[in-house]
Amino acid sequence: MMIAELPQGGSLAVMLIDLDEFKTVNDVHGHAVGDDLLCAVAERLGATLAKHGTVARLGGDEFVIVMPFATGKDKDEVSGFADRIVSQMSEPFFAQHRRICIGISMGIGTCPNNGSTAGALLHAADVAKFRAKEAGRGTFRFFEPNMDRILREQAELKVELREAIAGGQIVPFYQPLIDLTTRNVDAFEVLARWEHPTRGLLTPGKFISLAENMKLITPLTLALFRQVCADARERPKHYRLALNISPTQLPEAALFVAITAMMREADIAMSRLEIELTESSLIEDTQQAARIIDGLRAMGITVALDDFGIGYSSLYHLRQIQFDKVKIDRSFVQSIGHDPRAASFVQAMIGVGHHLHLQTTAEGIEDAEVLAKLEEFRCTFGQGFFFAKPMSGPDIRRSMPRGAINDPEMHCTWSPTLSLAA
Ligand code: C2E
Ligand code: CA
Ligand code: CA
Repeated sequence: MMIAELPQGGSLAVMLIDLDEFKTVNDVHGHAVGDDLLCAVAERLGATLAKHGTVARLGGDEFVIVMPFATGKDKDEVSGFADRIVSQMSEPFFAQHRRICIGISMGIGTCPNNGSTAGALLHAADVAKFRAKEAGRGTFRFFEPNMDRILREQAELKVELREAIAGGQIVPFYQPLIDLTTRNVDAFEVLARWEHPTRGLLTPGKFISLAENMKLITPLTLALFRQVCADARERPKHYRLALNISPTQLPEAALFVAITAMMREADIAMSRLEIELTESSLIEDTQQAARIIDGLRAMGITVALDDFGIGYSSLYHLRQIQFDKVKIDRSFVQSIGHDPRAASFVQAMIGVGHHLHLQTTAEGIEDAEVLAKLEEFRCTFGQGFFFAKPMSGPDIRRSMPRGAINDPEMHCTWSPTLSLAA
């Protein structure tokens, strides 16, 4: 209706809004708090908007704002507005006396540029919202024509993924985790890559969430791990392996049965396996997660809490669940060389690890200054391009010092000087 009423030369912005982490709020605080939060969000959106447009809830945690604007001022006016909404929504909310911080991701489609029907504008806003989420949430994006191309690419990958898994196109790359006291390699993190026949080597960002949505993540993990076990035959026995496990996979007993069977068959001791769990995997049922993790640990498997710090309730989980290790997310680590505040933060996180008798790994070490700080803070392990980028199985083998493969006592020391060419 608003489209039909647009004055000559007028424009309209359709802003689609999704609350970040709303599901987590429901899971952690319960649905009553979730409902109150939605009301508070609607109220604040209405107040921010004042008389500039109309806001409606589309369902779930999705809201839409329709706002007319003068074409002459173009995107600036909408941009300023979107900025204000995103920052307003990042302020804490109070629901049932609880202080809750969420943010929003917003996609914007404009009429007439991106279409002149409600359907076309909502589609454009939806595509743009998807990009806002990918950009790390808590932000907004305008629709751009190439976004459609990216979505089309994803639709194509979706059709191909099942066969790629069955056909062995998903392969393990490995990145060493370095013991910062000895500088020896402690483990290799397994990072999935898709050797796509026409698109080249694809990184997990392109296909892991696709696999999760298509319920193919477990076949993918198993296909990957099968190759890891084969590669492990050619590695010194003391190297450990760190495997990433997705949110939904933790309660899948069959997955762990299959993993441990493969390890037995390949003669890999359970103590050589480390499982890296991202926080969201634990939230739905913390007690169940704690039980499963206890079970894995009782088998000798190490369990690490991945991406520590960026999840919604890291400390809550550390209190509820016994981990062996936390991996501090690289977004915290990367600036500690020049940003004292970031450095204090990471030092405090490592301190939490020490107090709880947890080992700590810092991800994303790219330079010597960062490494020096981490050593000063007594971080246990380090990982990052400064030591080595993720490498294919054959490249890892080629880069090992001569003799290391067959000598279980020989430790491999990695330094930036020990490159692939070494
Ligand atoms: P992650 O677990 O946080 O893995 C570390 C990521 O940081 C890797 O990205 C790695 O290449 C990158 N990285 C390591 N050192 C540095 C550095 O010094 N600087 C920078 N800028 N980046 C660095 P990658 O390989 O693209 O993997 C992305 C994410 O995909 C992983 O993040 C992990 O969450 C997920 N993933 C990878 N393989 C699997 C898998 O087999 N299963 C599941 N469920 N997730 C996986
Ligand atoms: Ca990881
Ligand atoms: Ca991480």
